[in-house]
Amino acid sequence: MSENIRVLLPEDELAARIAELGAQISKDYEGETVFLVCILKGASFFACELAKRITVPVIIDFMATSSYDGGTVSSGVVKIKKDLDLDPTGQNVIIVEDIIDSGNTLNYLGQLFKDRGAKSVRMVTMLDKPDRREVDVHVDYTGFTIPDQFVVGYGLDYDQKYRNLPYIGIVELD
Ligand code: 5GP
Repeated sequence: MSENIRVLLPEDELAARIAELGAQISKDYEGETVFLVCILKGASFFACELAKRITVPVIIDFMATSSYDGGTVSSGVVKIKKDLDLDPTGQNVIIVEDIIDSGNTLNYLGQLFKDRGAKSVRMVTMLDKPDRREVDVHVDYTGFTIPDQFVVGYGLDYDQKYRNLPYIGIVELD
């Protein structure tokens, strides 16, 4: 079985939208500092590009969660595999995700940072697959809404491959 990748969102469209999200966040947090929580590994490319487009002071930290075991279907249980190094207490936390699918990850993390005493908690996702939502989550900033297909690239993997693609593509299995 071989895998083909069909381009869904080219590099220039991603860059333009990320610049818009950065400008919006900068406007919304004028006079404040934002604490970006990048969810590894998938959101890393997006978080770095987004951080460069934010003009208010930015703190960035990384966290790893898991609800997928190497396949393409969520197990529904969110585990923290690596926690933050910094303390989010009193911070304007913005959770940075690659994609919201079932909603389990962002639902869990939103509550976690409220419980940890963040001053505010918002969420930004590069991609949204609303057709697959299992829990209702309010996402404050969304890059693109996409159809219910498994995507890779720009940080997103299929069995750990394709994260390095500079675009978002759909995996087609022959
Ligand atoms: P949720 O908890 O919302 O179901 O899933 C969020 C996580 O599932 C994402 O951070 C991502 O790691 C993974 N995921 C969901 N859909 C896709 C997809 O189409 N492609 C890839 N590579 N990962 C996905």
